[in-house]
Amino acid sequence: MEFFDTHAHLADERFSPDRAEVIRRAREAGVTRIAEIADGPIEWELALKLCRQAPDGVAFSCALGLHPYHAADFSKEILADLKSHAKLPEVVAVGEIGLDYAKGSAPREVQVPVFEKLLDAARALDKPAVIHCREAFPEILAALRNFYPSRPETGRFWGVVHCFTGNAEQALELAELGFALGVDGPVTYPKNDGLRAAFKAAGPSVLVLETDSPFLPPQSSRGQRNEPRAIPEIAAKLADTLGLSLDEVARVTTENALALFSQRRRI
Ligand SMILES: [Zn+2]
Ligand SMILES: [Zn+2]
Repeated sequence: MEFFDTHAHLADERFSPDRAEVIRRAREAGVTRIAEIADGPIEWELALKLCRQAPDGVAFSCALGLHPYHAADFSKEILADLKSHAKLPEVVAVGEIGLDYAKGSAPREVQVPVFEKLLDAARALDKPAVIHCREAFPEILAALRNFYPSRPETGRFWGVVHCFTGNAEQALELAELGFALGVDGPVTYPKNDGLRAAFKAAGPSVLVLETDSPFLPPQSSRGQRNEPRAIPEIAAKLADTLGLSLDEVARVTTENALALFSQRRRI
């Protein structure tokens, strides 16, 4: 059985002491593909290095972006750099980008124009967008409707709303637009019946697995650093939720992830 962790931050300094070990443990858990998500220019080079090293039987690809936490750092130079780096074959997506309206984030008037410029770049580069959405669902939905007025080809996606934590109605709206939904550790938390209902409503054809390592550990390791080896635990809970076998969940989510990150002409 093989799994695809579509969202990990292994360039994070929390992995500096034992990154190679973390990757080896992922491989042992059946995680044979990892998309490394670089949140800002400081992480871009390390993400590309991970892709080129092809460490220990795990195929890496990466997404380069500017996380909404860093929206105030945006500059024309960063945008130009992103556009030139994104042409490299290792770079399968633009992200993560998005809006985060939780307390302590950059002001909305700073985040919105930066998000729109990065979304515009993703579309111009013909790359899927990895979207971060926190307490900003209506604004994200409006922006995606505006930038992606048509549906992608059958079986394709414009991007993914990573770490989806919304309700069934929101899941269906995103799926209808042509966005995949990222399933993370929170699906394993006992209180999250609403989230499990949302994934059941959306159905397996739009779901991808992710850990968001080092964040969002699943139930068995709450409070600890998360790692890609947590994917089978997330997948098992999703299998239970959807009434599918673990094998089937591994197969469908990997197919979805490959469709998500494959490059193609759009619009
Ligand atoms: Zn995020
Ligand atoms: Zn992330």
